[in-house]
Amino acid sequence: MRSNSLDSLVRFSLELLGLTVTMGAITVIAAFYAFDGFALPATRATLSFCLLALFLSALPLQIYAALRITRLKRDNDRLFHAATRDGLTQVLNRTAFKRAAEGSIASLSRRRATDLQPHTLMILDADHFKRINDRLGHHVGDEALTAIAATLRRSVRQDDLVGRLGGEEFAILLKNAGMEEARIVAERLRLAIHRIEVGPAERRTRLSVSIGGVSFRSAVAFPTLYKIADANLYTAKRTGRNRFNLTQLGALGRGPLIEATAPARAVEPPLPERRLAAVR
Ligand code: GH3
Ligand code: MG
Ligand code: MG
Repeated sequence: MRSNSLDSLVRFSLELLGLTVTMGAITVIAAFYAFDGFALPATRATLSFCLLALFLSALPLQIYAALRITRLKRDNDRLFHAATRDGLTQVLNRTAFKRAAEGSIASLSRRRATDLQPHTLMILDADHFKRINDRLGHHVGDEALTAIAATLRRSVRQDDLVGRLGGEEFAILLKNAGMEEARIVAERLRLAIHRIEVGPAERRTRLSVSIGGVSFRSAVAFPTLYKIADANLYTAKRTGRNRFNLTQLGALGRGPLIEATAPARAVEPPLPERRLAAVR
């Protein structure tokens, strides 16, 4: 952020300096015609004075304008951040996630068939979250959502998209990751979230998520992908929670081809199950 501000400060300063030099050159050319060349020594002295005055007066103006513009740019960046991030978890909000995902999906249609890399959309929903709120309090629920979001962000690549679609539902767009890689990532996410515990010491509660996803190679409308991922999420919920269910679409985005599901597996079986049961 700081180096960004410095870059724009240097850029604006150079632009303003360029403008001042251009104005000086125009003044010299105008003086040449207005005073019939620079034959008279008085003309040369006057011109030198005018140019010096121009550069000296431009300097404080340049500094002032560059600082103001840099501050405006910083404010603009802050506003952009606030408009695109979820206030609680700091991952992308629903609108920003959808827009960014649509952009990435559209870029698939511009790639040559030989360069096609599949993407995977995943929807993750915290399991039995209402009970966590009811038993441990809303503030612990908020803490759990923040921990889930941070874990998701940490567990995927920098250019993958992570967003909060609303409530206790998150979405991830894995770029250049097909079914096989998505399976590995989904399992890693499931385990990482199942390691998180929230609540006071005597009622520590382990979290879990269910995941539905779809891998695709060509540009498919976001709502279609969302519908498939959501149906897979529903299956993951219905078949026991704390698991994932992924589908792969055909090359033209038609028809589910392969399904990958993972049964629930506790990380440290006896304790989490007991703790989760206490929340139910
Ligand atoms: P399931 O396993 O079927 O998903 O059950 P669930 O309890 O997670 O699902 P349900 O839709 O019944 O409840 C979701 C809960 O998430 C209800 C709501 O209180 C809670 N929730 C939604 N947004 C927030 C939030 O910002 N903070 C907190 N603390 N809770 C939230
Ligand atoms: Mg839920
Ligand atoms: Mg939900």
